[in-house]
Amino acid sequence: MITLKNISKVYGKGDAASTVLHGIDLEIKEGDFIAIMGPSGSGKSTLLNILGTLDVPNNGEYTFLDTQIDSLSTDQRALFRRHILGFIFQGYNLLKKTTSLENVEVPLIYQGLDSKERKRMATEALKDVGLEDRLYYDPGQLSGGQQQRVAIARAMVTRPKILIADEPTGNLDTKRGHEIMELIRTFNQQGITVIMVTHEDDIAAYASRTIYLRDGAIEKEVNRVS
Ligand code: ADP
Ligand code: MG
Repeated sequence: MITLKNISKVYGKGDAASTVLHGIDLEIKEGDFIAIMGPSGSGKSTLLNILGTLDVPNNGEYTFLDTQIDSLSTDQRALFRRHILGFIFQGYNLLKKTTSLENVEVPLIYQGLDSKERKRMATEALKDVGLEDRLYYDPGQLSGGQQQRVAIARAMVTRPKILIADEPTGNLDTKRGHEIMELIRTFNQQGITVIMVTHEDDIAAYASRTIYLRDGAIEKEVNRVS
């Protein structure tokens, strides 16, 4: 589904330039569950952001099905991002003093749906993550695990093909972290491709493929036999 060919990323210019990714080659198949691991600073978030089109590589090719992502305009990339990808982050990134329902409606506003349809879809998405009784709570009234569930509902409400997750359990205790992973696994079993960064082995264990980065290059890949 996704092919990365010889992707490189350089930050800074001249003497201050530093190459953060060196010629990354990666093929991702529909339905894959990928964990990206590696030491701090090895380029995990940079690679994830390039896959998420939040950042652009300096070199190389990014293909999604038949589309050459790196030759799209900024607007076309934004459309790809809104329709094909869903994102969750370590810090949840929810709007404060805003109900779960309204947070989950945000991506649907960009899609131009009317209020009634947005409310119906957001309610459904919150049901899917077990928060049907928290529709009118705001983030300040929810636990960390519940906030990440709202973020997952917001990511999934547009029915993306790919879920991109940067350390999704990084702020959660072990039990809540595994609950979040069980939920992500459920979406993967429904056919959603998952690409996740983590530095915890027991979180990476949910993935079918683990890619180890070191100094901006893929050091090795380990596949789990299921
Ligand atoms: P990881 O997620 O594996 O910890 P990152 O991808 O965040 O690593 O960062 C890789 C390297 O790139 C680090 O040395 C970091 O300091 C540098 N870096 C990341 N983002 C930027 C940026 N926007 N500008 C300059 N350097 C950056
Ligand atoms: Mg990171």
